Amino acid sequence: MRLTTIGTGTAAPSAGRVQSAHVVDAGSVKLLMDCGSGAVNRMADVGMRWQDVTHFAITHFHADHVIDIPTLFYAWRYGQLPPRSERIEIIGPAGTLALLSSFAGVFGSGLLSLGFPISVHEIAPGEDVSLGGDVRLRCTKVPHTDESVAYSVERRGQRIVYTGDTGPDAELGAWAAGCDVLLAECSLPTSMAIPTHLTPRQCGALGAAAQPKVLALTHFYPPVEAVDIRAEVAADFGGTVALAVDGWSLDLEER
Ligand SMILES: [Zn+2]
Ligand SMILES: [Zn+2]
Repeated sequence: MRLTTIGTGTAAPSAGRVQSAHVVDAGSVKLLMDCGSGAVNRMADVGMRWQDVTHFAITHFHADHVIDIPTLFYAWRYGQLPPRSERIEIIGPAGTLALLSSFAGVFGSGLLSLGFPISVHEIAPGEDVSLGGDVRLRCTKVPHTDESVAYSVERRGQRIVYTGDTGPDAELGAWAAGCDVLLAECSLPTSMAIPTHLTPRQCGALGAAAQPKVLALTHFYPPVEAVDIRAEVAADFGGTVALAVDGWSLDLEER
């Protein structure tokens, strides 16, 4: 599997980071997770084949994770010749169907009938969804908004976990235990800590609980970039840490 961080930013506009979006390539599956503002253009910018996305998973409904959904749909219809005809499988927490209907309420019902079939699967925590081939997706609830989930993508013994947005949560650390890559949000410095986001110290504690081979951090608000993130994480987690940027990618070796 390969993880590519497309958007490593937040609600705060940034010259170098667009809003949340990440891609997992796993065999015939190309899974996009979240699609915040700027994500679709950034995919083109870094050479990611936005045309080939087969599955799209939503962690929660904050705008910085979903606002580029119409952009993506219109790109598939009007941004390529021939237009997309392949089905898109959308997975998200309960409320995902209502979110898409709301977008259709704004942009017109045609948004959901652009020539490619749309499947929506509202995933429940603990459920194990096959994405085709030997790729499986699971989720667990995380403390951020009522619907917020973290995802686990698994194939042939490899596992990538993406926290989405979350506050500190011991259960999340246990759930992610032993994964190959833990892509965790790292929103705010300790001086601005809140229960619904992580600080670098809390990312370190999460890493210590989960012991991933690589702890990759994303979702940086500008103030957190002013602190020594690596040093703060290292207080609790001694493993490999990556500070993701837009277009960063990591290949997992086949076991
Ligand atoms: Zn966010
Ligand atoms: Zn959020």
